[in-house]
Amino acid sequence: MRSLRAVKPLERFLSARCVGTRAHGVRKLSSTSGSYPLVCIVGGGPAGFYTAQHLLKSHPDIHVDIYERLPIPFGLVRFGVAPDHPEVKNVINTFTQTAQHKHCCFFGNVNIGRDVSVKELQEAYHAVVLSYGAEANRRLGIPGEDLLGVYSAKDFVGWYNGVPCNKDLQPDLSSDTAVILGQGNVALDVARMLLSPLDILKVSFSRTHCINKQKGSLMESHVHKVLIVGRRGPLQMACTIKELREMVNLPGTKPDMVTAEFEGIAEALKELPRPRKRLTELLLKAAQGSAGSAQATRQWGFRFLRSPVEIRPSSDVTRTAGIRLAVNRLEGSGENAQAVPTGEVEDLQCGLVINSIGYRSLPIDATVPFDPHKAVIPNTVGRVEQVAGLYCSGWVKRGPTGVIATTMNDSFDTARALLQDIEAGLLKLSTKKLGSKAIVTLLEKRGVNSVSFLEWEKINAEEVKRGGRAGKPREKLLDVEEMIKIAKT
Ligand code: FAD
Repeated sequence: MRSLRAVKPLERFLSARCVGTRAHGVRKLSSTSGSYPLVCIVGGGPAGFYTAQHLLKSHPDIHVDIYERLPIPFGLVRFGVAPDHPEVKNVINTFTQTAQHKHCCFFGNVNIGRDVSVKELQEAYHAVVLSYGAEANRRLGIPGEDLLGVYSAKDFVGWYNGVPCNKDLQPDLSSDTAVILGQGNVALDVARMLLSPLDILKVSFSRTHCINKQKGSLMESHVHKVLIVGRRGPLQMACTIKELREMVNLPGTKPDMVTAEFEGIAEALKELPRPRKRLTELLLKAAQGSAGSAQATRQWGFRFLRSPVEIRPSSDVTRTAGIRLAVNRLEGSGENAQAVPTGEVEDLQCGLVINSIGYRSLPIDATVPFDPHKAVIPNTVGRVEQVAGLYCSGWVKRGPTGVIATTMNDSFDTARALLQDIEAGLLKLSTKKLGSKAIVTLLEKRGVNSVSFLEWEKINAEEVKRGGRAGKPREKLLDVEEMIKIAKT
């Protein structure tokens, strides 16, 4: 048997990286194919893993490689889902099984579009699936948006969830009032993080830095009132009942609503479809003051029919002192009702504004079609328009809405479309493809240090060990260099 030292660099790279389950031991790369399909997926979030899962389950010979920009897998399950929702993160177990499938290979720390182009992937694989999510935040496009004290929900969530590029955010939490723009689940996650008692957060928080006693941490926060602003009315609110119930039951807080905003809502209840009816009943209960604790020291509330028009500066014009909102009325009814400005405005004082009006996908590569208005890759059931062999799934396919289950269903749809194309002979499987062999050669030449799933498991073990010392499930590593160092030991 040759020692590892004697093995050529590429072979050593492959044997170290392309491994199956412990039961399967070290396996060969999903190498050169003359007949079986070689597919690669860009993005190791829910869409990437669910697409891979369905392909591997449905086709006995298919080989799937997943390329992920970070050394760590799972996308927003790790970096978006709130720390106090550990049950949602259980999908990681299913994704891990997929990554350990003998025909699946994970390559972390590979940024497609920078380290390797989509064209190079298309040359190496029979099919390429783009599942790279929505990494940007939608801008408000109003004066004052760049003042100190204004943050995107994406950066704020990234800060408390340990996204490497947001680790140093140090949000200014010195103001007593925060305004969150947007009324979806992400807005409610942020409100809950700002108002939750620290002893609750301490148990689940995998980023100690955010709750320790230091500048810009939740422990040092002065925020005791959070207003969650939406441009439409109570019947159009975008959150789900679980998130609203968590706000209603949040210890030490009570709702603060404007009764006039709920006129006619009780009468409309009987016409509503069941999920919307239940959500609205709970909202009414909160608005009528029958929720919250009598000893509450913190408040939260919705403000409806308001759109931001300006973030108002402090007297030295550096930081946020308040926000000007346009007052709207509704035209039409139900889910399709439109907000129309009445011409009135209203000013709110606040030192913290969090923009939670939505995430946005970006183009990955000039060769891939992209719709700049909808910020998605134009596609038909996951088949990228006008490019044979190129597919998409998840938020980059349908836009940044919906929960993990929605992403699962649309990823399965994309996988089914790809399998149909294989069946119909559209992917030219007789063409010899080099798969990850070709890509690994490129990565080596370009000095890119990719991280395998087994190496991620070393990072995972280190995080769990560090968390254990503090009585928590994990303490997240925040530095990419440190992650790679641990992966390679
Ligand atoms: P992502 O999860 O964003 O995954 C995309 C992956 O692609 C990422 O890992 C990214 O690093 C990678 N990538 C990006 N660019 C490149 C590149 N150039 N090369 C290689 N890789 C790249 N859903 C629930 O069901 N429950 C919840 O509690 C919940 N909470 C949420 C909280 C927040 C703050 C957010 C934003 C979303 C939440 N969701 C929740 C929704 C859920 O996270 C999404 O439905 C799901 O993550 C979308 O999956 P995706 O794979 O399309 O995108």
